[in-house]
Amino acid sequence: MKRLAVLTSGGDAPGMNAALRAVVRTALDAGAEVYAIYEGYQGMIDGGSRIRPIHWTDVGGILHKGGTIIGTARCDDFLTHEGRLKAVRNLLANQIDALVVIGGDGSLTGADMLRREWEPLRSELVVRGELSPETADRHPYLSIAGLVGSIDNDMYGTDTTIGANSALHRITAAVDAISSTAASHHRAFVVEVMGRNCGYLALMSGLATGADFVLIPESPPDVDDWEGKMCEILSTGLQVGRRDSIVIVAEGAIDRHGNPISCEQVRRALTERMGEDTRITVLGHVQRGGAPSAADRIMSTLVGAAAALAAINAGPDSEPVLIGVHNNRITALPLMACVRKNQEINEAIRSLDFKKAMEMRGPSYQAIFNILRTLVRAAPHPPKPGQKQIRFAILNAGAPAPGMNATVRAAVRLAVDRGHIPLGVRHGFRGLIEGQIEELNWMSVNGWAPTGGSELGTNRRKPTGSDFYAIARNLEDHKVDAILMVGGWSGYEGMLSLWKERKSYPAFNTPMLCVPASIDNNLPGAEFSIGSDTALNVIMEAVDKIKQSAVASNRSFIIEVMGRYCGYLALMSALATGAERVYLNEEGVTLNDLVRDIDLLVTGFRHGKRLGLMIRNECANELYTAPFLAALFEQEGKDLFDVRVSVLGHMQQGGDPTPLDRVMAARMAGEAIQFIERECDVSRGDEAAAACLGLVAEQATLTPFYDIARLFDFEHNRPKQQWWMELRPIAQMLAQPDPHFNKQNGRS
Ligand code: ADP
Repeated sequence: MKRLAVLTSGGDAPGMNAALRAVVRTALDAGAEVYAIYEGYQGMIDGGSRIRPIHWTDVGGILHKGGTIIGTARCDDFLTHEGRLKAVRNLLANQIDALVVIGGDGSLTGADMLRREWEPLRSELVVRGELSPETADRHPYLSIAGLVGSIDNDMYGTDTTIGANSALHRITAAVDAISSTAASHHRAFVVEVMGRNCGYLALMSGLATGADFVLIPESPPDVDDWEGKMCEILSTGLQVGRRDSIVIVAEGAIDRHGNPISCEQVRRALTERMGEDTRITVLGHVQRGGAPSAADRIMSTLVGAAAALAAINAGPDSEPVLIGVHNNRITALPLMACVRKNQEINEAIRSLDFKKAMEMRGPSYQAIFNILRTLVRAAPHPPKPGQKQIRFAILNAGAPAPGMNATVRAAVRLAVDRGHIPLGVRHGFRGLIEGQIEELNWMSVNGWAPTGGSELGTNRRKPTGSDFYAIARNLEDHKVDAILMVGGWSGYEGMLSLWKERKSYPAFNTPMLCVPASIDNNLPGAEFSIGSDTALNVIMEAVDKIKQSAVASNRSFIIEVMGRYCGYLALMSALATGAERVYLNEEGVTLNDLVRDIDLLVTGFRHGKRLGLMIRNECANELYTAPFLAALFEQEGKDLFDVRVSVLGHMQQGGDPTPLDRVMAARMAGEAIQFIERECDVSRGDEAAAACLGLVAEQATLTPFYDIARLFDFEHNRPKQQWWMELRPIAQMLAQPDPHFNKQNGRS
């Protein structure tokens, strides 16, 4: 039987516990024995009780906790030969020869060194008489899988690192709060965020909060007098009506000669050159702390599960792997190649090769940087002579989704900057029918980035009958060249109906684009829709609280979440909260399932379980409703536990958008404007393009309207193939009761 150990090392990061839970449970489920090494490499060197078995239930109830429950440390002894010799002796004394290391590039380099030195150190221990040759022979090699725990998102080979998204949540909340006080007092704020070599946090939080200037290590301002450039942008902003100025500075920000840029320098420039009342806020360790976000919990869970299997299944010749995510899929790359590439990026920054540094960060990083550069402008570029000016209608339709405003704001500004004229349509298709259409300019969307709901107004109305005539007339009256709809499925249906009426109404033969914005995440051609990450976090936070109340009183909860016929929110919130059961319409619910669920609950509570948590998609089953399930479980649970239903309701559609939703909003808006420019260029008379925009494997993808029928299940209003259903087995495996307990009690 394989014996695997897991440790967390270096700086702590929210999500490490989710990764730990997944490593432990996946390895146990695969039949391995699992040990935890407490306090990182220091614990490996100390041995004794710092290396001990860790069980299924030891990692229960930790998903929501920040930091790492097995402790982390920096350890200088590990850098010495003697230290590593002790480490190997302790691993072998516990018969451990597979290791999952969760840490930054320092910790991962340490792991690789341990693997390379395994053989000589083993022999040395035998020669010294500290290890029997038989034990040495039984463990000829050390298998390693690495996970990157770092809030800075500073690792080559994975799109996100454990903790980065949570840190972004902390920063975004702080900057939103600072913005409101700054605007009240006409103040300027300089906010320092973490990131010694990587501007990820500064860049993304700048984009998410609508900051006015951002300084990152990989791409310093391209002039010597960066203070002058910054002050010019901020002054123009104040002239056109902004009440606050926010500058976000990455810890490692530099000028183009490599000299560090400090917050104090920025403050001095704003005070002396602009006469601004300027304050500095250094966010510091707040960014590291707190509960992990939904994205961090889910991502950490998935990479944790993959790392456990990679370490268990590695052979003598397997290279250590770094388990990460790329394009929304789990990847395994050679660990040391990634560490080396990472060092190459740091070296590029040190040697002022910013082009290379940006290139190595990847295309989406660059794309986001370019979008930010436009959005932070105080005012648009003046129109170029002879440039084609496109008039496009922009509307929200369907149920409200957090991030709709951020999308409209970004689309309007990006378009205005390129000389186009966005026409805002109020109240969805109703406004298009009634002619509630007005020109939007740069400042009409000011302050929209962080707000929930829809400033334009949205509803589920779909055009029918004489509406088409009214819409056609309004489109003609306003000389609309293209239509951009940001919304949910009823918005898509509305757009499809216009498209189908093209033969009768030539005004509809304009480029049309649907941008996915729906908490349900059920739209064609998109793996994620704007708003779904916010809803997921809202659900997760509510469930965290409900869990606490349940533990206090031996209770089971059935929590009903939105999504109509799409189980995305239900499954993902179950993954993020560790719910033991999730009911999805995609799978259906049978009486046999319920009998099994009752049996699990009753047995669990009989053996000391204190809380039951079940998440039900609102349309999981027409007859087995939440009250029905509650009554059934309560009756069968007798005195062991009671059952409550919690229907989360419309809070799921509310709230300020999360950083992920805001960043996606900006990316989608950038793609949408490119689509409109491209398609309006095509000569008229041809059929104009009509498509749905979405991220598929992180790539912006267009799905033509005529392809929707092939991809979409119109009966249940959801895509026929849903990528996230692949996560069902992992969710199920991790949430099962301790399989060893089951075996001991004669259950399968
Ligand atoms: P992080 O893992 O977050 O980058 P550190 O760089 O501080 O954090 O590394 C954590 C620990 O990993 C160090 O205290 C040390 O024990 C070990 N470590 C770091 N770099 C190396 C290295 N080059 N070789 C061996 N061990 C290392």
